[in-house]
Amino acid sequence: MNSAMNRQARIFVAGHRGMVGSALVRRLAAEGYPNVVTRTHAELDLTDQAAVNRFFESERIDVVLLAAARVGGIFANASRPAEFIYENLAIETNVIHAAYRAKVERLVFFGSSCIYPKQCPQPIREEYLLTSELEPTNDAYAIAKIAGLKLCEAYNREYGTQYVSLMPTNLYGPNDNYDLNSSHVLPALLRKAHEARRDGAATLTVWGSGTPRREFLHVDDLAAATLFVLEHGVTEGLFNVGVGEDLSIRELAECICKVAGFEGELVFDASKPDGTPRKLLDVSRLAQMGWRATIGLEEGIAATYQDFVASHSGSAAPALHA
Ligand code: GDP
Repeated sequence: MNSAMNRQARIFVAGHRGMVGSALVRRLAAEGYPNVVTRTHAELDLTDQAAVNRFFESERIDVVLLAAARVGGIFANASRPAEFIYENLAIETNVIHAAYRAKVERLVFFGSSCIYPKQCPQPIREEYLLTSELEPTNDAYAIAKIAGLKLCEAYNREYGTQYVSLMPTNLYGPNDNYDLNSSHVLPALLRKAHEARRDGAATLTVWGSGTPRREFLHVDDLAAATLFVLEHGVTEGLFNVGVGEDLSIRELAECICKVAGFEGELVFDASKPDGTPRKLLDVSRLAQMGWRATIGLEEGIAATYQDFVASHSGSAAPALHA
């Protein structure tokens, strides 16, 4: 443990247009941090090592929040593994190394609960990392994220940096991806339920068997956890971030249909993969330090649905693919 964060710190939020990065920017503004630095993809390609080095050499950054990543749901991960491993490794090595060279002391790296083995005891403790094989549908992404947290550990050990890794469970919230071929389950089902109700459909198709269990965290809670970690002077380590409770995909679908007002039948498409059977994080490490998620699932889904309707109103949303 070390000092808390300076309010005047220059904080680079990498990936500020994504769901996590935009939540961080909102939270930093709400908490009164005036010096937040962002770059769009067009302004700074984080897979371009020379450009990343130039950026850090000129910007005098104090803190990096590394939320930039190539992310996607089960179908995108399974069908485009090369993009997921290459782009994430490139972003991580470029940003973490350039940050170290520019004497950035503090960095928060965001991973994912898919870094843990497929057949993990539940709830998943941080110590289970690398104890057995990964889930094959997203192993390329998981390997890249494991490399990212290992980079942080190695730089801390060799160079004395203070780079911390947060491993959130499945996230949802504003600015999520609603494209059905690349999205995660929660936004996909929100969209399907919305469109099924709008179109008066009799059924809604859920991928897989509906029996896998997942845990869902509103992205505003992840942003709160990030500020908590920074403000409590955490300087190293790996921390799970979740709510500590899960539910089946069937139960999630039922909850979403209720929120969106769709009263038809659920149909399960067994040709689609289930992925890992269960992914419930043990969140006691952060809880012992005093942090807990506060946004309930139904409340969070209702707010996200409002946001989806507002941002995809009319016929702006492209047609259903699946
Ligand atoms: P995962 O948590 O890495 O497996 O990623 P996803 O969020 O994409 O999928 C979670 C679970 O939800 C898997 O068992 C999917 O098969 C299931 N699922 C059910 N319907 C859908 C859907 O419409 N889209 C997605 N992405 N997953 C779905």
